[in-house]
Amino acid sequence: MTNILVTGGAGYIGSHACKALRDAGYTPVTFDNLVTGWQDAVKFGPFEQGELSDRTRLDAVFAQYQPAAVMHFAALSQVGEAMAEPGRYWANNVIGSLTLIEAAVAAGCLNFVFSSTCATYGEHDNVVLDENTSQQPLNAYGASKRAIEDILRDFEAAHGLRAVIFRYFNVAGADPKGEVGEFHRPETHLVPLMLDAIDGKRDALTVFGTDYDTPDGTCIRDYVHVCDLVDAHVLGLNWLEQGKQSRVFNLGTGSGFSVREVIEQSHSVTNRKVPYTIGPRRAGDCTKLVSGSVRAQQELGWTPTRSTLKTMISDAWRWHQTGHYDK
Ligand code: UDP
Repeated sequence: MTNILVTGGAGYIGSHACKALRDAGYTPVTFDNLVTGWQDAVKFGPFEQGELSDRTRLDAVFAQYQPAAVMHFAALSQVGEAMAEPGRYWANNVIGSLTLIEAAVAAGCLNFVFSSTCATYGEHDNVVLDENTSQQPLNAYGASKRAIEDILRDFEAAHGLRAVIFRYFNVAGADPKGEVGEFHRPETHLVPLMLDAIDGKRDALTVFGTDYDTPDGTCIRDYVHVCDLVDAHVLGLNWLEQGKQSRVFNLGTGSGFSVREVIEQSHSVTNRKVPYTIGPRRAGDCTKLVSGSVRAQQELGWTPTRSTLKTMISDAWRWHQTGHYDK
């Protein structure tokens, strides 16, 4: 079986990717420091605990498993935190990734699938966000991801490392079978916070700003189901295996939903009231982030099948009620 090194494989998206890789016949080797991930989420292949900044440890893992590719999910990924602690974001995301990329090249592992983000685009008025849109991130999270994209390009020119870069829009939902799901510590993402508020596990949700230039005043995002998202990663891996060129792909559906629309849909899925209050804007938030590209569909053959708001919230709600790493 072909080994794939999955950094952040104990996290939300990484654990779903491990399941998709296992189902596609690969062995996902999780490399994770368990700072934001959960060992209970590592169910589909071997686990190696370590820091991305620890080159000696990385070299040992590459030597042991001889992975055919790296899928790099491990990162700090919260906008609010990135505004408050930019240094942590630059250090963890950029230095960690650079060390990983150098270790991969040294080990001769030249296929790389990278989790980037639509946060690299920043604020654009009336512009269709496709892969050629200029990248002007509003926060250190987006800026650190853009820097890693640049590092990957330099390493391709110098060392032949080929990369599929995915710029995610907003990821939501959970494995429909409930084996893995979304759980962050602390939780900052809209859907899990809302579900927690619905069943009284935490206080009312705060809606961050109702004075944006959108039809209902709240921010608009393009939500994609985590299972659809990780399916694209397997297709991206196949793309590299076929010897194709490095490529950037947006992963979004092209449909935008406001915070209020997400709240309404959650009410309708759960049949429970969503307790919420209106608060000020959160620093670093863009008004609207919606993908305007179908490149992933056209070139990778990606077909999102679960990315309706209703299915994403239903799957997240099922996971929320049945599974949890927080025992
Ligand atoms: N949001 C909100 N209240 C919260 C968390 C998020 O109103 O407690 C809004 C946030 O401003 C954004 C959207 O929900 O418009 C999605 O935020 P999230 O943190 O889930 O993802 P991000 O867009 O930051 O990647």
